[in-house]
Amino acid sequence: MVLKDVFIGLSQNQFLNNTAKKYGLKLGAQSVVAGTNLTEAIKSIKELNAKGISCTVDNLGEFVFEKSEATEAKNQILEVIEAIHEHQADAHISLKPSQLGLDIDYSFCLENLREIAARAYQYGIFINIDMEDYNRLQPSFDMLDELSKEYDNLGTVIQAYFFRADDDIEKYKNYRLRIVKGAYKEPEDVAFQTKEEIDKHYIQLIEWHLLNGKFTSIATHDHRVINHVKQFVKEHQISNDKFEFQMLYGFRKEMQLDLASEGYNFCTYVPFGHDWYGYFMRRLAERPQNLNLVAKQVFTK
Ligand code: FAD
Repeated sequence: MVLKDVFIGLSQNQFLNNTAKKYGLKLGAQSVVAGTNLTEAIKSIKELNAKGISCTVDNLGEFVFEKSEATEAKNQILEVIEAIHEHQADAHISLKPSQLGLDIDYSFCLENLREIAARAYQYGIFINIDMEDYNRLQPSFDMLDELSKEYDNLGTVIQAYFFRADDDIEKYKNYRLRIVKGAYKEPEDVAFQTKEEIDKHYIQLIEWHLLNGKFTSIATHDHRVINHVKQFVKEHQISNDKFEFQMLYGFRKEMQLDLASEGYNFCTYVPFGHDWYGYFMRRLAERPQNLNLVAKQVFTK
């Protein structure tokens, strides 16, 4: 637990984040980040597509405190949408509201997201609003509510560590939802703290949305959860077109291929860009074994 807190703390260090941007992918991050530019990302996406795997693309960006940075992030995401369309890639977009200026000004962020939703809508490309920490949760749902009046190509994430996830999943049952355990450190008045509680709630939410909801993206590397879902969908005769499994780029690669070849819809989360540091530190927080990646990188020079 202590190590987890250390890495979450490091992920929030703006100085290290800015420094890391100057040096390209380091410390083993290249195994879990699909390059620093769009050309590299599209190449990875096409390779995954060729293996029967669809992708959700995250143009990494954090610590956005200037409007100019948020505008740049928006323009980059528009470029990704154009590239997906041009290359006819089997891919959609994942984005973080903070990247589009949520911490600067809600209305400004909403306008950025509106422009992205409109462009993606033209091409029939889905936009997933990734969920960040608790402070950004409600404003992110508010933006989804607002833009859903105009566009139907939007969905979001339910984080199982939150107590309020039961209400949120019910409210958003007609949306395509990604269900995750939750990646940030949250206080005990709003979130479950133990792995047992989070895992139990996670399964409950997945089952609920599979039975009552629109499309379910089960985003986990946990083979126990995956095996449980396989059994559950069989017992309840839920067809494969109602759900997919999702994993992060570079994680459990064999299992990703196996699930796709077993006939399940599979979607890989493909992050790319210079702003890899916070993303990479959160992955180390989730699974300190990922430190092996760092160790290999440092000792095989
Ligand atoms: P864990 O609880 O970390 O692991 C459970 C068990 O699975 C482990 O004990 C181990 O036995 C096995 N396992 C896990 N990883 C591996 C591995 N690499 N190799 C071998 N065995 C392994 N979080 C958010 O807060 N917001 C988001 O928008 C968000 N989007 C996500 C999108 C995707 C596609 C994914 C996969 C995750 C996302 N997350 C998001 C992160 C998520 O909330 C969890 O923090 C993260 O997935 C770790 O939990 P887990 O379910 O994968 O398994």
